[in-house]
Amino acid sequence: MSQLFPHLFEPITLGSHTIRNRIVSSGHDTVLDDHGQIGEDLVAYHEARAAGGAGLIVLQVSGVHETARYTNHVLMATDDSSVPGYRAVAEAVHRHGATIIAQLFHPGREVMDGQRGMAPRAVAPSDAPQERFKVVPEALSTAAVKDIVAGYASAAKRIASSGIDGVEIVASHGYLPIQFFNPRINTRTDEYGGTPANRRRFLAEVVAAVRAAVGPDVVVGLRISGEEKTEEGLVAAEILELIGHLDELEHEGTDCLDYFSITAGDSSTLQGAVHIVPSMQVDPAYAANLSEQVKKITDKPVMVAGRINQPHEAEAAIAEGRTDMAIMTRAMICDPAMAGKARRDAVEEIRACIGCNQACIGHFQLGVPISCIQYPESGRELTFLPRPQVRIRRRILVVGGGPAGLKAAAVSAEQGDEVILCEAGPHLGGAVLLAQELPYRAEFGGAATNLSAEAVRAGVDIRTSTPVTQQIVDELDPDHVIIATGARQRMPDLEIADDAFVIGARDYLEQNPQLPAGRVLVTDWKGDWIGLGIALRLAEAGTPVTLATAANFAGAAIQQYTRTLLVSQALRTGRISFLSDARLVGVDADTGYLQSTLCEIVHEVDEVAATIVSAAPRSVVPDLDLRAASVRVIGDALAPRTVEEAVYEGLTAASELAVAELEVTG
Ligand code: SF4
Repeated sequence: MSQLFPHLFEPITLGSHTIRNRIVSSGHDTVLDDHGQIGEDLVAYHEARAAGGAGLIVLQVSGVHETARYTNHVLMATDDSSVPGYRAVAEAVHRHGATIIAQLFHPGREVMDGQRGMAPRAVAPSDAPQERFKVVPEALSTAAVKDIVAGYASAAKRIASSGIDGVEIVASHGYLPIQFFNPRINTRTDEYGGTPANRRRFLAEVVAAVRAAVGPDVVVGLRISGEEKTEEGLVAAEILELIGHLDELEHEGTDCLDYFSITAGDSSTLQGAVHIVPSMQVDPAYAANLSEQVKKITDKPVMVAGRINQPHEAEAAIAEGRTDMAIMTRAMICDPAMAGKARRDAVEEIRACIGCNQACIGHFQLGVPISCIQYPESGRELTFLPRPQVRIRRRILVVGGGPAGLKAAAVSAEQGDEVILCEAGPHLGGAVLLAQELPYRAEFGGAATNLSAEAVRAGVDIRTSTPVTQQIVDELDPDHVIIATGARQRMPDLEIADDAFVIGARDYLEQNPQLPAGRVLVTDWKGDWIGLGIALRLAEAGTPVTLATAANFAGAAIQQYTRTLLVSQALRTGRISFLSDARLVGVDADTGYLQSTLCEIVHEVDEVAATIVSAAPRSVVPDLDLRAASVRVIGDALAPRTVEEAVYEGLTAASELAVAELEVTG
């Protein structure tokens, strides 16, 4: 039993089931479905978290009605062909002692995808338009409302028949059940609109119908936003009133609900949606004040989400009585074994999630399978796990101690090879060390910390301040060389007047020079954190800034929720002017010249005291004569991209070397 986290590892009872600990992986879209059903990829994904020690796994949403297809990858529980998939994932999770619950879902107007790229259609209580996905829903008839209520019941019964331990009704984030309750959205005049009792009716009927369908031995929970945090959204007092009514519902002497799962936010606006998966700009466990309020009005167990990334944050929230269980979904996307490590107090082994949102929710929004920038094995369990073990130990030289090199080194060593990693600079981490210098991005540095620790634990011989020369290669005589030397700043071809102050973004971050007083023109070729982050840092220090991006808009390459928060912070400074679709072509003493990327127009930005240039970086590959060794180049040294691609290529390089050895040795 954990000495550090006694509350976190105390079992807890939800209805008829006792959960082994308080750590929850909440329902989250994975795009690991097999044509809308549960296949072996999704089973392997959840089995890894169960094997890693999670107490409760909540499966991603399952549509309860044909009108509930909110993406092209949503699981559907509308007919019996879905049952074998639920059974397979239930058996896999149960094998490792965890409990599994499935989410019952209808999005109402929150529909992201239409068919084959067409604009989506949606149904909702009323025709109130949805701002984020630009959907104008059709108002449901009274008969259609009742048909959807019946859909919840039949889906619940079907899922429960598969051996899944419970179902969770999703009324969070502005989805259909809560659309009915919101008087700013629901303008109906029938029995489902108008008075609070009428607006509660849909959800109350769903809750009662689900309990009636599954009986007393299946767990039934409710997921709800404690506060929707958006313009037309519900406030905490309204939500608490609703929870109070639902808490009292009974069916044949059994409480209809066994627990409440609290989150925050609303899907319908960019402002509200950031709380669906809050990024690194948001404080850890920030939504525990909402679960704390819910705990005051119910005796049932309450769990809470909201950037609980570390076991000590979860332990504190439970110990302080602010929640009963901690939802730590990304913590286990990043490290499926997090719960087991916490249980044996091995906190230094935990690969902490850094809240970047890039490969988890970011992949979902791109319509591709889930992963993690730090742990690309996530979502690829069947390809990369368990690690192959080589029969004949080789010597592998890794050149470069950034994300790609560290991952290649750690995995190779874990597979049984002898690994020497040489880094030219004094520190490990590569480009991560600069990224963490940007405002609100300090946590990104955790990627370097985590990857370095993994390499050390795996037994890699790490040599910093060691540029690799041919002499070193000859002395070490490695069987394989992996080059991961990263990328360097490149200045574009510009016309720059002698008296203009112009500096590259990387130099600016590394050297932090004193800039001339006055407006700073920040130019940005990609629409990522670099330009926006530098502009924000300057503006927060009082400097007027023009941010010109060659992308369609500032932050275009950043995951949506992260970008929303970052641009909001930039807007709040009141000191940043934005210019899009423009590339820098020249600078004179006080003017920047930017060519439109769309047409012949040239923009002039006046009264510029200094210009900071972020341009496409250039790969760096050492000029070594490596004819004797097998050599491969990975990460930014191959093609400058992001940490995600670098780490993935470190993994694939190491895996392929092991597989090749096993094929040779039979
Ligand atoms: Fe966490 Fe980023 Fe990995 Fe998502 S991609 S799980 S936010 S580290």
